[in-house]
Amino acid sequence: MKVVLQNLTKRFPSRNKKSSEEVIAVNDFNFEIPDGKLIGLLGPSGCGKSTALNLISGLLKPTSGRVLFGDDDVTDLPPELRGVGLVFQNYALYPHLTVKENIMFPLENLKGANRLSKEEMERRVQQAADLVQIGHLMERKPSEMSGGQQQRVAIARAVVKLPKVLLLDEPLSNLDARLRLQTREEIRRIQRETGITTVFVTHDQEEAMSISDMIVVMKDGVIQQIDQPQSVYDDPANLFVAKFLGTPPINVFEGSVKNGRLFIGSDDVLPVSGVADRPVWVGVRPEGFVLDENGPLQCERIGVEVMGRDISVVAKHPALSGISIRAIIPAEHAPKVNGNAVCFALKPYKVHLFERDSEVRIREGGVQHGTP
Ligand code: ADP
Ligand code: MG
Repeated sequence: MKVVLQNLTKRFPSRNKKSSEEVIAVNDFNFEIPDGKLIGLLGPSGCGKSTALNLISGLLKPTSGRVLFGDDDVTDLPPELRGVGLVFQNYALYPHLTVKENIMFPLENLKGANRLSKEEMERRVQQAADLVQIGHLMERKPSEMSGGQQQRVAIARAVVKLPKVLLLDEPLSNLDARLRLQTREEIRRIQRETGITTVFVTHDQEEAMSISDMIVVMKDGVIQQIDQPQSVYDDPANLFVAKFLGTPPINVFEGSVKNGRLFIGSDDVLPVSGVADRPVWVGVRPEGFVLDENGPLQCERIGVEVMGRDISVVAKHPALSGISIRAIIPAEHAPKVNGNAVCFALKPYKVHLFERDSEVRIREGGVQHGTP
């Protein structure tokens, strides 16, 4: 089921009684979620992700704009008539019911022509439980299960009604790191197997990157970029997106373009084409640094962190915006890093330029790629 958001906006009155300023939690969203795809809504806490999800589910009414499922306008339909499955961060299972009863609950509430026979309900519940691999735990109570297992029950309960759209709001946030990884792979598998159009909300960029077909990056209720995960990383629309994706984060310097050359501070680092002289922000991904004793970017070495396959060279530069540079270098180059000075050449395709004021990406010509 394709989902379309048209000029979707949600305003909340200010919570602070003294101020009359309202919050625009979702500001003029326009995009289409293709049938069968998994879309990640990504952004920092408070940027409007849950609000956007609740507008799709029908738990919230928009201030203006429309929500369409396929060709049907569902804007005025209550959640129970939209055919959505919902999963939240806290699993919200009924503690006194068994796993089986929890999963069956939404089926028992079906009314009229939608009502299923007891056998059909049993079959559907078993199918949903098997899908999330808890089919052997049907008689347990939620308190007798781990967080990961409880979240699987919540997912089974959301898919048992065969929803048209599955909506997940930070479903992995209460799980420990290992379970989070495992469960996100599970969600991806379940989504692929069922082909249910899915919206997955997270503030965790790595989670969004790993699970999504497309990512919608949000800030303060405004969409910053909609793209495939790799494109959001490789081709950020602005400095906010560049900084929000990637660990360690992108390194940002004050720079300038002068006569077709890019300067970081006073270091002349790369040729650029088609960019008029101006001050810029220069973003360099951690993997964009190459150790080179004749390299143009002259830094002060602070330390080296061993990461196994790679090392992270921590360094300073006078034009750096931020505390320290983190350059990821293959571990076999580690012996080259000693003394107080360290010089780098830059991989041009890992360097992005942004307007100093608006922080919008500068693309025209840009950094010359040469041979990457
Ligand atoms: P996220 O899920 O990305 O953390 P939310 O969608 O929960 O963000 O909130 C977005 C913004 O809307 C925040 O500034 C939040 O304080 C505000 N907000 C959310 N719900 C309400 C509400 N019921 N009343 C007033 N403001 C709200
Ligand atoms: Mg939220």
